[in-house]
Amino acid sequence: MQSEQPIRIVIAGGGTAGWMAAAAFARFLGPGFRITLVESEEIGTVGVGEATIPQIRLFNAGLGIDEDAFMAATQASFKLGIEFVGWTKGGRYMHAFGDVGRANGLLAFQHSWLRGLAEGVARPLAAYSLNNVAALANRMQRGPARTAKLLPEMPYAFHFDAGLYARFLRGLAESGGVTRVEGRIVAVARDGESGDVSALELEGEREVAGDLFLDCTGFRALLIGEALGTGFEGWSDLLPCDRAIAVPSARARDFTPYTRATAHAAGWQWRIPLQHRTGNGLVYASAHLSDDEAAARLLAGLDEPALADPRPLRFAAGKRRGFWKHNVIAVGLASGFLEPLESTSIHMIQSAIERILSLLPGRQTSPAQREEYDRQTHLEYDRIRDFLVLHYWANDRDEPFWAERRAAALPACLRHKVALWRASGRIVRGEADLFSEVAWLQVLAGQGIAAAAHHPLADAPPREHIAEYLGLIELLNAREAGQMSDHAAYVAQHCAGAAAA
Ligand code: FAD
Repeated sequence: MQSEQPIRIVIAGGGTAGWMAAAAFARFLGPGFRITLVESEEIGTVGVGEATIPQIRLFNAGLGIDEDAFMAATQASFKLGIEFVGWTKGGRYMHAFGDVGRANGLLAFQHSWLRGLAEGVARPLAAYSLNNVAALANRMQRGPARTAKLLPEMPYAFHFDAGLYARFLRGLAESGGVTRVEGRIVAVARDGESGDVSALELEGEREVAGDLFLDCTGFRALLIGEALGTGFEGWSDLLPCDRAIAVPSARARDFTPYTRATAHAAGWQWRIPLQHRTGNGLVYASAHLSDDEAAARLLAGLDEPALADPRPLRFAAGKRRGFWKHNVIAVGLASGFLEPLESTSIHMIQSAIERILSLLPGRQTSPAQREEYDRQTHLEYDRIRDFLVLHYWANDRDEPFWAERRAAALPACLRHKVALWRASGRIVRGEADLFSEVAWLQVLAGQGIAAAAHHPLADAPPREHIAEYLGLIELLNAREAGQMSDHAAYVAQHCAGAAAA
């Protein structure tokens, strides 16, 4: 007979991962579940993680969050893409969200563009992306494109203050019935027979018992790593950056609706405009750059005065060898880390939560559920890793760090993708690939990898038609962007945060 007791889910850690999970469980799980979150103010959170991708809007919408209220509460700005500066000599390009150009029947846009390039009538790819054109003009507008049906809607994400986002979600979670327990976890108790975790032991001789545990303790990975001994697969051969140094600066005069990722001699630097400040950080490989040099480089590269001392962070790229072990599921930094080049970590928290909800165990977990969860998570990690590696590998810079990246052996799946593009202009999207064909296209082309051919169907129209078609898309993008609001004015009108109002 079924027990009447609710299933107890215990979330260890209250950073972005812990509170996203708590808010989602409060919203989607019924009275059959009791949710408790344990966090330690004294330990604090990693304190970075400000740039997102458009999928976050689905998460927020699922929680019933009013977008303008959320943006005001988290001092958010809009994000239309990421500008990559200096990843090839003197080059810059945008990985913009959303479509580029317009597919022609079955023919993906890149083939018409490649034909246009061959005929000398095409402009750089970015000219055909509405998000790119709007972003570089500092324009923003939500809702469907007005100029013509020929233009797609402009997808967007946010830059926000991660601490304020966690606080915002905490409000939702607690009002939805989640119990928050303040305290430092000092030990993890396990059932002698099954090996499952039975309780978190807190300082002051308190304990929080549960049936299912989420390890959201960040890089410490207290449950999945320390207590259960799940190993870590490091990817330093592919992604050798192992440190970052972060500093906030004053609100940007150039309040861009995009993130900027600028390459430097041994890594790259981010710039993320928020309403009340700008997030900056330098990601680097300690084998090629000292901490002092990194701090000096970061401070020298700021557009606005720093508001605090730079904060160093250490990490290793890679993933856990398993993400769900016994009755513990690792979410967020406890599950692994991929540097924030494409702003994927918060998204991976979101997709982990979706996976947990879809494979949610009852009082007992079957090995098959765990295996499926792990299978999907491994694939997700591997595909995102490949996308990041592409940015590093396809470079023509002179510094030893970049020469090493160019010489690195690519994972098989990525090698195949690059070869297919080079030979035929085709892009295939694999299972669990977070990034669309158009995302891959922008990075492949942006990093200067040329395609030698295109689909033969793109040869059918006469040259003038191709020129006219490409010119029309460019014209419509420019017209549409010209009708949008200035980004700063748009934020001030719709979603200004307290200090910035
Ligand atoms: P944390 O924020 O570290 O939270 C851990 C929680 O566990 C805290 O509440 C802590 O108090 C608690 N805890 C730990 N030990 C104990 C204990 N013993 N007892 C009680 N509580 C404990 N992601 C993006 O999507 N976009 C970005 O732009 C981005 N930029 C990043 C830049 C850098 C340099 C780094 C390192 C990461 C970045 N990330 C980014 C990743 C992002 O910061 C994380 O994915 C996100 O913050 C989630 O972190 P977390 O909740 O897993 O861990």
